[in-house]
Amino acid sequence: MVAVSETKTAPEVSAEDQERSGAKQGARSAKQAERSESANAAQEVRTEAQAQPERKQKVEADAATTSASSKEAGLRTCVGCRKKQPQEGLLRIVLDPDGVTPRVDYLGRLPGRGAYSCPTMKCLELSVQRGGLRKAFKAQVKGSADVLMQEAWSASRRQLRSLLSLANRASKALPGHTRVEWGLRNEEGVLLLLAQDASPSLQRKFRRWATELGIPVYEALSKEEIGPTMGASETAVTLISDTGFAAKIIQELERSKNLLLIQDEEGPAFVK
Ligand SMILES: [Zn+2]
Repeated sequence: MVAVSETKTAPEVSAEDQERSGAKQGARSAKQAERSESANAAQEVRTEAQAQPERKQKVEADAATTSASSKEAGLRTCVGCRKKQPQEGLLRIVLDPDGVTPRVDYLGRLPGRGAYSCPTMKCLELSVQRGGLRKAFKAQVKGSADVLMQEAWSASRRQLRSLLSLANRASKALPGHTRVEWGLRNEEGVLLLLAQDASPSLQRKFRRWATELGIPVYEALSKEEIGPTMGASETAVTLISDTGFAAKIIQELERSKNLLLIQDEEGPAFVK
């Protein structure tokens, strides 16, 4: 689960980024306090590198599965289709400590060697069944594309809820019919989010209104999923009033686009 309890209100940062940078800043300022003013820049750089051994380890391990030139360009090779893609659009896969079970590292934070796959069933199946992961990890990988897709799917929904929750705590979200109307009248909105199970009439009304104002409209999650992020049991419509949060939320929605290919009782992650 995503920990949102420590996070305060930096609008342009996701839950995890905020948590991580918060921890980093804390560590950094403590270090800076200890350090005398005469400490030189080289020393500072070294300390910073030492402070992130896990991150360094992860980067080095990933580099082992990627050529130097594509690494520089931020590209990674999908172990399914073997095409090079921007890293942000791919799913990072790591091995469980058991050494054989692949796991989706959706936020790309876990240490150790990582392999990348397009977030599609086709590429995950190729990765698992045709030996792409086996080659990348040099291990007898025992997994299923279905399980990996399900993990990515759940992680994406978790990340969305976490971003919504942060936006709400930062008072950058206007949840519910009345507040959204107020926000649209006062030109407070930059992103309109409709629950997938919002009533068709409500969807039509707000979709038309937001579109006229040039505000992007996305459909994602259910009323029951969004509600708790807004301190309610159910929320059908939410207006995000901050461009930083809106950008993060849209980025996550776009990233999860390919996960649409999975069909389960929860329905597609979102429809634009
Ligand atoms: Zn692929």
